[in-house]
Amino acid sequence: MELKDRLSDINRRIREACLRSGRNEADVQMIAVTKYVSLEDTRSILELGVTRIGESRAKEGVRKRMALSPAGSWHFIGHLQTNKVKEVVGVFDYIHSLDRWSLAEAIAERAGKMQTGVDCLIQLNISGEASKKGLAPGELLPFADAVSALDGIRVAGLMTMAPLEADPEAARPVFRQLRLLLKQLNDARIFPYPVRHLSMGMSHDFEIAVEEGATLVRLGSVLTGR
Ligand SMILES: *Cc1c(COP(=O)(O)O)cnc(C)c1O
Repeated sequence: MELKDRLSDINRRIREACLRSGRNEADVQMIAVTKYVSLEDTRSILELGVTRIGESRAKEGVRKRMALSPAGSWHFIGHLQTNKVKEVVGVFDYIHSLDRWSLAEAIAERAGKMQTGVDCLIQLNISGEASKKGLAPGELLPFADAVSALDGIRVAGLMTMAPLEADPEAARPVFRQLRLLLKQLNDARIFPYPVRHLSMGMSHDFEIAVEEGATLVRLGSVLTGR
């Protein structure tokens, strides 16, 4: 299959998952994760009209954005080391991996210096796997409360990664819990604005994530073929 066929197949699968779950297709956005592919392949993806790109490495993402597209939105999705914050703030529009207080402070400090604001998603580790980054569910509200006092960070949503199981259905309870956590966060009225995004679902399990309320799905291999 060619890239454009893979893209239309993904769009069809998202549309069908929306139909099954009574959701509006316009509420689900695909982030093309280009970490496995070259600058040229990333260009081809943009030329098909994709406007959201996800990268998990700072240097590579910055290089691609500078070369390819000031437009669209660029999403930092990988683990972010504190010493890479200065590379990422001002280049990426969203950081999906806000997972600790020291990182929040570093982002806020950098944003302050640059007189800008950064949209961040708080990463949750719902399955509790030791290999996964993210806050435990019980840490979310106190963490959000502390972050709300920092200028320079807007909390745009929550992000999680489900355990990789042969059956994508196994991810459903994880996605469902992230949706409930977002509701709790909004009910707590910690932020003076609604927190909107649920970044969940990857190549293997994105249809389940859409059925459970994902607004941002992060798709790498199913799109790029790698
Ligand atoms: C690599 C990556 C993805 C995309 O993974 P695929 O399984 O290839 O779709 C999504 N989210 C994060 C955080 C990643 O690191």
